[in-house]
Amino acid sequence: MTITHIRPHLAAAIGCTPLIKLRRASELTGCEILAKCEFANPGGSIKDRTALGLLLDAEKSGALQPGALIVEGTAGNTGIGLALLGASRGYRSVIYMPDTQSKEKIDALRITGAEVRLVPAVPYANPNHYAHQARRFVEEANAAEPGSAWFANQFDNTANRDFHAATTGVEIWEQTDGQVAGFVCATGTGGTLAGVGLALKARNAQVRIALADPAGSALAHYVNTGELKAEGNSISEGIGSSRVTANFADAPIDLAWNIPDVESVPWVHALMHAEGLNVGGSSGVNVAGAVRLARALGPGHVIVTLLADAGTRYQAKLFNPAFLRGKDIPVPAWLDTAFSAQ
Ligand code: PMP
Repeated sequence: MTITHIRPHLAAAIGCTPLIKLRRASELTGCEILAKCEFANPGGSIKDRTALGLLLDAEKSGALQPGALIVEGTAGNTGIGLALLGASRGYRSVIYMPDTQSKEKIDALRITGAEVRLVPAVPYANPNHYAHQARRFVEEANAAEPGSAWFANQFDNTANRDFHAATTGVEIWEQTDGQVAGFVCATGTGGTLAGVGLALKARNAQVRIALADPAGSALAHYVNTGELKAEGNSISEGIGSSRVTANFADAPIDLAWNIPDVESVPWVHALMHAEGLNVGGSSGVNVAGAVRLARALGPGHVIVTLLADAGTRYQAKLFNPAFLRGKDIPVPAWLDTAFSAQ
């Protein structure tokens, strides 16, 4: 007997995520605003795709040898994806991560069995930036024992972007029957935006691609003026950048905005309360961006964005009235009630 409806291993359960209509954002704009539920990936985020794309490419090229160590610098989600895939395919992982990231993500990574190395959050120009530390670790390991470690390098390894073009972008095209008129998201490595943007524009050059950038990131200003300049800051994690990565460099971006937390975090709360969607801070930036793109294109368009991971990864911040007040972010009455009733 052959059982047909099974996935043979973890990698086969990544991607093909549901595309869900966001009711409130659609009603507000007269557009059909749709979101890919990337929190439904087995590791809980869009970065499972990145991890798988990088890993398959490295297995094919021989950069990652059987039994070698997977090493990466990450805000957390890529590390979780790599470590889970590593567990499923016989690799151990060492993950460098800035110590400013949420405890929930650090714990999620620790329970995968990965070795988590928390390092101070410093600018990319500093040699102690987490990505440089990861690269140095691999260089030293391979100098001692060639082929013993692999640096995934999600920011500048364009296998990241290419995998999004081949999976996320194609899925969006097919799930909307080619009716997608605009796509928008925030970027960390740039892999998602560039990959989806290139895939959609290759199928219809009229599709508009937009960047939703959090406060504190230099990219929206860069797209609009050619100058890397950042202002303000954000409680969001995993998004925003001070530099143009190899994955971001070819992103075909038509529009770009900076989106403050006071605009994005209320979307996180509204999605939870009115639509039952538990999402993280970058998803709030994405949905705020989708509303801006809908307004720019006018009613009647199909706009797609992503729900990149779940709010449970940031619960102590995003759903914590005292924390939000300390950041001057509005606290919805229902959230206050939920905690005062305890
Ligand atoms: N949202 C979350 C929650 C993330 O962890 C990341 C990646 N760090 C992104 C968005 C950005 O995706 P990308 O790296 O493809 O630009």
